[in-house]
Amino acid sequence: MYRIGNGYDVHRLKEGIPLRVGGINIPYEFGLEAHSDGDVLIHALCDALLGAAALGDIGQHFPDNSAEFKGIDSRILLTRVCELIREKGFEIGNVDNTIVAQVPKFLPYIISMREELARVMNIEVDRVGLKATTTEKLGFTGRKEGIAAISTVILQKV
Ligand code: MG
Repeated sequence: MYRIGNGYDVHRLKEGIPLRVGGINIPYEFGLEAHSDGDVLIHALCDALLGAAALGDIGQHFPDNSAEFKGIDSRILLTRVCELIREKGFEIGNVDNTIVAQVPKFLPYIISMREELARVMNIEVDRVGLKATTTEKLGFTGRKEGIAAISTVILQKV
C-alpha cells in the first residue's frame, strides 16, 4: 500500500541573516526570513510527508505564531513529522525535491543536503533525491526576492 504526497514552500530572501536550506548552512549574503530558521526545503518536505499520511500540514502542527517554534531548527520539525508518520504505520519509500532559486548556486551543496536530510529522516541517502533549478530570471525567484522548494514523497504502509 502506497501513499503519495506533495509539498511546496516559499520564503523571502533578506540581507544579513544566515541561509539555511536542507538542514545545512549555505554561505550567502542573504538568508530566508521566517518564524523558524526559514529552511524552505525542509518545510516543503514536511508538508509532503504529512500530506501523504493525511496528517494535515506543517502550519497546523507547528504554528508560526507560537513562541515555541520561533527560530527553531527545522530539522527538529522534520524529526517530529517522521515520528508522526511512523506512529501511523508508514515508512518512507523515497523523497524527491527541487529547490527553485536564481541565487545562490546550490550544486556544490546537494550531496551535503541529501546526507543531512537522510540522516534526520533515518533513511538511506539513496532514497533522497534533490535538484536545484533557476527560473531563467523570471518571477520572484528569478528576481532574487525569494526561494521556493517542491517536494514529492511516497510512503509505504508497514
Ligand atoms: Mg516555510
